[in-house]
Amino acid sequence: MNVILFGVQGSGKGTQAKILSEKTGLKHVTTGDLFRENIENKTELGKKVLEFIEKGDLVPDKYVLEIVQDALDNLSTGFILDGFPRNPSQGEFLLKKYNIDKVVLLELTDDVSVKRLMARRLCKDCKTDYNMLYKLPKKEGICDLCGGEVIQRKDDNETAIKLRLDKFHNETEQVIKVFADKGIVCRVNADQEIGAIQKEILENLGV
Ligand code: ADP
Ligand code: ZN
Repeated sequence: MNVILFGVQGSGKGTQAKILSEKTGLKHVTTGDLFRENIENKTELGKKVLEFIEKGDLVPDKYVLEIVQDALDNLSTGFILDGFPRNPSQGEFLLKKYNIDKVVLLELTDDVSVKRLMARRLCKDCKTDYNMLYKLPKKEGICDLCGGEVIQRKDDNETAIKLRLDKFHNETEQVIKVFADKGIVCRVNADQEIGAIQKEILENLGV
């Protein structure tokens, strides 16, 4: 089974995809993490995509398609895509090469999205998620799990968040419509607890 998770920034795609991957054995492929790894490791690709990511702009397709193809080719299992496709041309690329069985849309208002993202933090080392509204680290600024530094993503500032939301409504929603026309999109309310959202996703996927 191949699945795509869609949703505005902060709707919990990454969190849900990770749990879903552990439960089903499907491979979690997330373009945002792949780019951030490249930036941290100072690869050629990382250097090229840095400016787009920090602004909250989309990375040009030529870099995105390459990284996605690398991740999806030679997989021995199905996949869960998170962060891709984000515009119509990426959607076309995907549909030409791969079969998509189910699409999950995590629904959240822009207001809640902005609130969650402004409060989002993560551990620099092990990438554990924190949130200043409801999941604080026990010691300020220090990861509970590994002692690493808890930081804010550079693109979690108001200007970059606005631009990402704008791209979602203007570009990603066009792609979602293509899948909705095929009748394979299920909608889940993302303004619930993590476990309740996961339960609805599993029910919708029939797993
Ligand atoms: P968020 O969903 O919070 O915007 P992601 O971690 O999914 O965060 O992505 C972070 C950034 O990586 C995006 O703002 C964009 O610059 C880049 N990116 C990720 N996926 C894509 C994609 N499919 N196409 C273009 N840029 C992408
Ligand atoms: Zn940590």
